[in-house]
Amino acid sequence: MELEGNVLGIRQASRLHLVGARIVDPATQLDTVADLMIENGVIRRIGSTEGGPGEERINLAGKLITPGWFDLHVHFREPGKEVAETIASGSLAALNGGFTGVAVMPNTNPPLDHAGIVSWVKNQATPFPIDLQVIAAVSKGRQGKELVEMAELCEHGVQAFSDDGSPVASSWLLRHALEYANMLGAVICEHAEDRDLAANGVIHEGAVATKLGLPGIPSVAETLGVLRALLLAEYTGARIHLCHVSTAGAIEWVRWAKNRGIRVTAEVTPHHLLLTDEACATFDTSTKTNPPLREETDRQACLEALADGTMDVIATDHAPHPFEDKASEFEQAPFGIIGLETALGLCLTHLCPRYLSLQKLLEKVVAMPRQVLGLPPVRIAEGEKANLTMIDPDAKWTVAPEKFLSMSRNTPFAGWELKGRAIGTISHDRYWIRDS
Ligand SMILES: [Zn+2]
Repeated sequence: MELEGNVLGIRQASRLHLVGARIVDPATQLDTVADLMIENGVIRRIGSTEGGPGEERINLAGKLITPGWFDLHVHFREPGKEVAETIASGSLAALNGGFTGVAVMPNTNPPLDHAGIVSWVKNQATPFPIDLQVIAAVSKGRQGKELVEMAELCEHGVQAFSDDGSPVASSWLLRHALEYANMLGAVICEHAEDRDLAANGVIHEGAVATKLGLPGIPSVAETLGVLRALLLAEYTGARIHLCHVSTAGAIEWVRWAKNRGIRVTAEVTPHHLLLTDEACATFDTSTKTNPPLREETDRQACLEALADGTMDVIATDHAPHPFEDKASEFEQAPFGIIGLETALGLCLTHLCPRYLSLQKLLEKVVAMPRQVLGLPPVRIAEGEKANLTMIDPDAKWTVAPEKFLSMSRNTPFAGWELKGRAIGTISHDRYWIRDS
C-alpha cells in the first residue's frame, strides 16, 4: 500500500540532527535542553553534537521532544466501514496528533477475533511509522457466547482482549476470559456497563436529559459494570483494565480496588475530563458518546482521579463516524467522538500543568498505555531506538476538523483555541515534521 500522497511528508534520514529542543523523559529522569543525534533510527548521542555531512538538521529551539505518545483505545473502522476510517487514515491521524503507537479495538465488521484477521490488520499498518497493536475480541464474533482462541492470538502478538463497544456479555464469560488471560499474561480491557440499566439511553441520565426529553443512561450502569469487573478480577487474581471510566461512583470503586490490591488499571478520555452533558444541549450529535458526557461532579472526580493516580492512562476512544451517520436525530445517531488529532493539544492546554505536571502527563500517554499492554518501555537514551514526539508547546491553533487526516469529523472540540501542538514524530526509522 502506498502512503496515499504522503500528506505528512514522512521520510527517512540516515543521520538526523535535532538541535536545541527541551528533551523530557520521566523514565530516564531527563529534562534538559540538548541536541539529539539519530543514526539509522537509533539515538546515538544526547548533548551538544557536531553537525556532519549528509545529515538532516532540524532546529527545534523552543520546542519539546518527548518519548512517542501511545493511544490505548482507538477504533479504526477497517474492515467493514472504510467510509469512516481506514487503517491508513487512522494511522495518519494518529501521527498527525503526535502518537507513534495505537491499540485498535476489535469491533470492526467482521470483528478482530482470530489470528488471520489480526495479522491482516497489522499488515495494513506496515507502510506507516507507527506501532499498531491489536486488542482482539474476547468472544467469537463479539457474540458474548464463546471465547476466542486466546492462546493462538497471543502467539500472534495479541496482549489484550476486549468486547469494547459492549461489556463482556456475561459474568460467566468474563470470569473465564480473565482466567485464560491470566495464564497467558494478557489483560482484559472492559467496557464496563450494565446493559439492562443503560437500556435505550442516549445521554447521561440527569437534568439535561430531562430537559431535552431524551432517554438517559444512569451513572449506576457504569458503577455496576466496574464493580463486576473488579470483583471478578479479584476472584480470579487476573489483571483488568477499565476502558473510559466516566463517573464519580465508578472512580470510588477503582480507588477502593487499588487499595485492596486488585490488579486494575483504568483510563479516562479527554472528553470526559473537559466536557459535561451541558454540551449536548444543542442536540449536537458529535457530543453523543458512550459512556455519555456526565455531570460536573463526575468531571471533577475524573480530574481528581487523574491527578491522584487513580486513573492510569489518558486514551481517546477515537470513534469515527461518517457525516451522513451523525447527521441524524440525536436519538438515532451512533455513539462516538474522534480524538487522535485533538488529544495532545487539549492535554497541554487544559490539563497540564493545572492538574498534572508534564512528567505525570507523559506517564499517562507514554509509559502506562504500553505497560498495560505489556510492551517494552520507550525511552530517550543513547543506544535506544528513536521513538519520539516533537511538540511546539507555544503553538496556538484552532481545531478545524476539515483539516484532520482522519476521514471523520465528529468532534465536539471544533473551533476550540488550543496552545500546544504535535509538530512531528520519529519512529521506525522514519520521521515527519510540520512545515511552520
Ligand atoms: Zn467502549
